[in-house]
Amino acid sequence: MSQHYFDSEKTTHKRFELPGAKPHYNPDRPGQVEHIFLDIGLDIPQKSCYGTCSIRLLPVRNGIDRLTLDAVNLQIKSVQVDEVVQNFEYDGEKLCIHLSQPTKIGNRLLIAIAYTAEKPQRGIYFIQPDKHYPHKPTQIWTQGEDEDSRYWFPCFDYPGQLSTSEIRVRVPNPLVAISNGELIETVESGEYKTYHWSQQQVHPTYLMTLAVGDFAEIRDEWQGKPVTYYVEKGREVDAKRSMGKTPQMIEFLSKKYGYPYAFPKYAQVCVDDFIFGGMENTSTTLLTDRCLLDARAILDNRNTESLVVHELAHQWFGDLVVIKHWSHAWIKEGMASYSEVMWTEREYGDQEAAYYRLAEARSYLSEDSSRYRRPMVTHVYREAIELYDRHIYEKGSCVYHMIRAELGDELFWQAVQTFVQDNAHKTVETIDLLRAIEKAAGRNLAFLFDQYVYRGGHPDFKVAYSWDGDANLAKVTVTQTQAKADSQDLFNLKIPIGFGYKENPKLTTFTVRVHEKEQSFYFPLTERPDFISFDVGNNYLKTVKLEFPIAELKAQLEFDPHPISRIYAAEALATKGGLEATKALSSALKNDPFWGVRVEVAKQLAEIQLDQAFDGLILGLQDPSPFVRRAVISSLSQIKTHHSYKAVKSFVQDGDESYYVEATACQTIAAIAAANLEDKSHEDKVIKLLKSVLEERAGWNEVVRSGAIAGLAEFKTSEVALNIILEYTKIGVPQPLRLSAIRALGKISTGQTPANIERILDRLAEIARETFFLTQVAVLTALGQMETPKAIGILQSLANQTADGRVRRYAEEEVAKVQNNIGTDKTLRQLREELDQLKQQNQELKSRLENLEAKSK
Ligand SMILES: [Zn+2]
Repeated sequence: MSQHYFDSEKTTHKRFELPGAKPHYNPDRPGQVEHIFLDIGLDIPQKSCYGTCSIRLLPVRNGIDRLTLDAVNLQIKSVQVDEVVQNFEYDGEKLCIHLSQPTKIGNRLLIAIAYTAEKPQRGIYFIQPDKHYPHKPTQIWTQGEDEDSRYWFPCFDYPGQLSTSEIRVRVPNPLVAISNGELIETVESGEYKTYHWSQQQVHPTYLMTLAVGDFAEIRDEWQGKPVTYYVEKGREVDAKRSMGKTPQMIEFLSKKYGYPYAFPKYAQVCVDDFIFGGMENTSTTLLTDRCLLDARAILDNRNTESLVVHELAHQWFGDLVVIKHWSHAWIKEGMASYSEVMWTEREYGDQEAAYYRLAEARSYLSEDSSRYRRPMVTHVYREAIELYDRHIYEKGSCVYHMIRAELGDELFWQAVQTFVQDNAHKTVETIDLLRAIEKAAGRNLAFLFDQYVYRGGHPDFKVAYSWDGDANLAKVTVTQTQAKADSQDLFNLKIPIGFGYKENPKLTTFTVRVHEKEQSFYFPLTERPDFISFDVGNNYLKTVKLEFPIAELKAQLEFDPHPISRIYAAEALATKGGLEATKALSSALKNDPFWGVRVEVAKQLAEIQLDQAFDGLILGLQDPSPFVRRAVISSLSQIKTHHSYKAVKSFVQDGDESYYVEATACQTIAAIAAANLEDKSHEDKVIKLLKSVLEERAGWNEVVRSGAIAGLAEFKTSEVALNIILEYTKIGVPQPLRLSAIRALGKISTGQTPANIERILDRLAEIARETFFLTQVAVLTALGQMETPKAIGILQSLANQTADGRVRRYAEEEVAKVQNNIGTDKTLRQLREELDQLKQQNQELKSRLENLEAKSK
């Protein structure tokens, strides 16, 4: 599964386990489920699904007289076993069948349950046009992970049970039905068509799927197997543009994982209103239709490509090799996320892959520092869906990379292949991965798993360096700042430290064991190095602060072959500040061959409080990479002067080839104008400008107009801006734009009058009654930014009423945030604003002084 499309920022640090969390175990098994056959029809106007679910079960022991199945809010019409009617009890959650004949080992049971799911809240979703959205397509799709299949058919709903499956479904013309496995029959009868799909490979219930719609089908293939893309008609070109690399990816992953793609076809269906980025149902992945790229979006959107390879990787990690329990979900989510790195490496090269990995690491680090810290493997939670966080995705990916670094490429892939081959069509736990590594590579990586998998956290390194010219000794002092001396928070790792010379790209590297709170290492060298590279290759998941002299940092930024090391050097330089650092960063922004480093350098330049930083930054607006232009514009939002206002304004007015650059420009220009440091009249002009963007630049996924909305939210005291935003929260506004407007209400609320705050609260309370997942998350995000206790009431009622475990959890986290916001004294904020102004004046003085000093040298 992939969550790409909703990221909420969290600022509080809390325990992962919320009140009510408890240990979760798979249930006892009455036997092996061998086959599931759903024979169903759909009543689309009534949003219901009805039919028979047949389950063939091979009992594990004699004398079982009760079978308990998961089945939520279904109407159970009848239960038969081997065509004999059975008694049963049903409480709306569990279906308990009283077997008239207790089980006998070897005697299979065929359980047939006739049922209806009327307007199910989860599991199966009916999308239809209505008076507000008349152009919405009619679609039905399912989402089983993690425990939602039970909302649309009765089953033993946990990943420890693997079986073959079959779905026969009748749908009205012209809709088509797509499901797991092969299409074995279609039957036309009048206005209806029956599709019969069958999957001969075993898989768990959460991967069973059905997608129905009036789709265009685009056919591709890999080694004779059909590879198909289903999209709304009219988007065929976007489909090929967005998913067209799939056959190459199947080839790539089949080789890397040492196991040819295991299923008879691979379909990707892009559906409307999908609640995740994608879902890796066996042989039939569902994707959000928002991932479909137009000709401009593909320029600087890599998310879709990553999403496609992520879900595909699950066909091995998750679908072929199935996790036995949700607590081990990192095995599949970590590898699917690491496949994004692997694919980036093969498609765009090592530097991009390293930078992608850094982004994943940072994503985890921010969750760790601002939300909670937890072991990657834990079975203590309220709902399994809570586990689907950045610890199992992004940190999981980083852990796979550390395994690769530890074993080396050859042994790593041998271990991965052994793991896949030994466990194909079976279930696994974390220990099975360790065993495969030991079997294939002879290495015991328990120490690594102990530190990074079974416990939370990571090392925070501080690294200092000095040179002793008399003895030709380099001294490197490494401190683990996350830990107290001798505490169990200390990490014990072998880290390579490299010394580099300008004229020689190859580092002289020594590997040292870092295991104490503070250690100093001495390295005899023939001559003084130009720079020092800590953790050569940057393979370990960590944070690092470099305390090197400015000359070494400058040399590292320019000459270190590894992009992440150059980025760390840029960060350390920015901390030093001053004209010399500014010059080095400005030159890197112009000259670094890799756009990722230029992006980071742009961010760091904005941190330096010198006018000269602006001069360096502004040149980046001409950068050929849209990623860099976007970063530069975003950085300019921190330099609130007339010059940056003018520089950004042209991007809003004249546009850019990238949607994202335009959107960022809309937000930045507002942030500058809202600061009011120079000219009050900018505010009205910018509001007018953003209003024209809203009126004229509808387009792909509403990225640009959402940028304009985010810009308006910067004018926290403006009623005019608020009124425009409110207008776009109305139902009927294109959904991505409306979600942006709902979220923006939170930010703009903090400067509004009490009467306007009431209007915002009323609006949010009204929207909170809508049940669509993404709308609810947008409401939560808005409320979490507010500074009034009244927001808490709405959050609590959302938490109480929602059917979604994620919404419940987010709502509770946002309550804590609001409480925190209220605690912040208003006068404190005022002081902070005044301080900003003083800083600005101080910066001008300092800049002049630096120039004078430079001249006098
Ligand atoms: Zn996933």
